Amino acid sequence: MRKQIVAGNWKMNKTLQEGIDLAKSVNELNEQVDGDVEVIVAAPFIHLSEVSRVLSSVRLSAQDCASEANGAFTGEVSAEMVRSAGVEYVIIGHSERRTIFKEDDITLNKKIKLALDNGLIPIFCCGEVLEERESGKLFDVIQTQVEIALFDLDPADMGKIVIAYEPVWAIGTGVVATPEQAQEMHAYIRKLIREKFGDSLADELTILYGGSCKPSNAREIFANTDVDGGLIGGASLNAEDFIAIVQSF
Ligand code: PEP
Repeated sequence: MRKQIVAGNWKMNKTLQEGIDLAKSVNELNEQVDGDVEVIVAAPFIHLSEVSRVLSSVRLSAQDCASEANGAFTGEVSAEMVRSAGVEYVIIGHSERRTIFKEDDITLNKKIKLALDNGLIPIFCCGEVLEERESGKLFDVIQTQVEIALFDLDPADMGKIVIAYEPVWAIGTGVVATPEQAQEMHAYIRKLIREKFGDSLADELTILYGGSCKPSNAREIFANTDVDGGLIGGASLNAEDFIAIVQSF
């Protein structure tokens, strides 16, 4: 049975107190939801340890971790530090990290390994920009991102990974991929994993869709065979909207 997940990425939003309040509301509302969907919030680094104290039905994620284990890297936060704050998941390779902070696939591969070594579950993001989709390069782009970041993992580690397909043109734009576009790419990603790691690992792999997912469109996206949930940006900043997305399953 594949795990279904809805994860909220708060990005650089909310003061510490606002973050604690949002986490409490999400946790409370989620307690009233039936079903097996795993709900995750990805809070800013400095919120993590306080937010971990108010969550019970909801899991906690960081939005990133460093590509080095420790040492003279001013401003960075290591996977070990993240784990020590009561965190279970870490988003790696979000398109904002790739584009704004110039993170490449080799760096992301290092982050994934450090996350795994420290007991964190990576939520690995991949996605094409509009130009790559329109020029027909979308499958090559995703293949390269997935291969470099994940293909040298051993199967036991790969079995822990969650993948989020986030077409960059859909993130924060209000333009959502059609259910067909999402299904097509999710099936392709699962095929790549199947060819490299085999059937059982591919069948168990959770693949999330991210990009302008809202209560009004989540149901039709989540209804696709290869879509196992969502990574939610803007709509995760409001507890009611976020939980309405969880209830779309
Ligand atoms: C994201 O940042 O991962 C995301 C999917 O954002 P939004 O839902 O706002 O498009």
